[in-house]
Amino acid sequence: MNSSPETPIRVVAHGGGVQTTAMLVLAATGRISYQTFLFCNVGDDSEHPGTLRYLHEIAIPYAEANGITIHELHRIKRDGSTETLHGRLVKEGSRSLPIPVRMSNGAPGTRSCTADFKIRVIGKWLKQHGASATNPATVAVGISIDEIQRVNARKVEPYERLAYPLIGLPASEDTDLRLNRSDCERIIRDGGLPVPGKSSCWFCPMHRPAMWQDMRRSEPALFDQSCQLEDLLNDRRDVLGKDHVFLTRFAKPLAQAIPGGQELLPLFEDDDPHCDNGWCMT
Ligand code: SF4
Repeated sequence: MNSSPETPIRVVAHGGGVQTTAMLVLAATGRISYQTFLFCNVGDDSEHPGTLRYLHEIAIPYAEANGITIHELHRIKRDGSTETLHGRLVKEGSRSLPIPVRMSNGAPGTRSCTADFKIRVIGKWLKQHGASATNPATVAVGISIDEIQRVNARKVEPYERLAYPLIGLPASEDTDLRLNRSDCERIIRDGGLPVPGKSSCWFCPMHRPAMWQDMRRSEPALFDQSCQLEDLLNDRRDVLGKDHVFLTRFAKPLAQAIPGGQELLPLFEDDDPHCDNGWCMT
């Protein structure tokens, strides 16, 4: 479907986390002007199950009740089938490492997950709806004032202009909001919604240690799956004669890196590189 080139296209890149859910409430209550939210589902087997549950049971019904549309987008291959990130990772014989696994020095490796499963998927939708270099879409990103360093970390595509309504950028957004994460949580509660958890793939190597420990305690099956995935990736690397990679920065298997039971994590400085481009965990 092509819109007329003059039609302004305004969408929120909906991550399904606290910031973009606050934007949903702000839009529903007329405090920001967005009617279309785009959620890139990188896979029902890849997104954290809580993110998808919240999306389907809470966010979409709330949006519909308030005249807002949340489109759930997937990566569709040329043959028409849907590809998921987890599917690509575990595919028989695959050498592909699309997620930012941690190398033995703790640094994240390069990733293609964001480009393949989010940037191109949203880009395709925007272009199908009339976005172009001469008619760029406004894409609102859910970054709050406490994460202001993430502003402009994301590469801007020719068919889009980025906006950060939670911090009133650019000025043409006509909001003077300067909201931090707790403000966003309050807005969500005031809107009558529960506060969602962090949105990301359950196996994302950018998780902070405390998040892994929470998962080990409260979602042990998901934690075990993450350990198994890490093992699978390393079994393959053994065959190829390559160094091991990890889901944490501690250069050891997840089950050893993250203490179980009541054992406390050592106090880590918050020096992890964040998933800072605004595509995930918003
Ligand atoms: S959450 Fe992590 S693994 Fe998932 S798409 Fe984003 S960077 Fe990649």
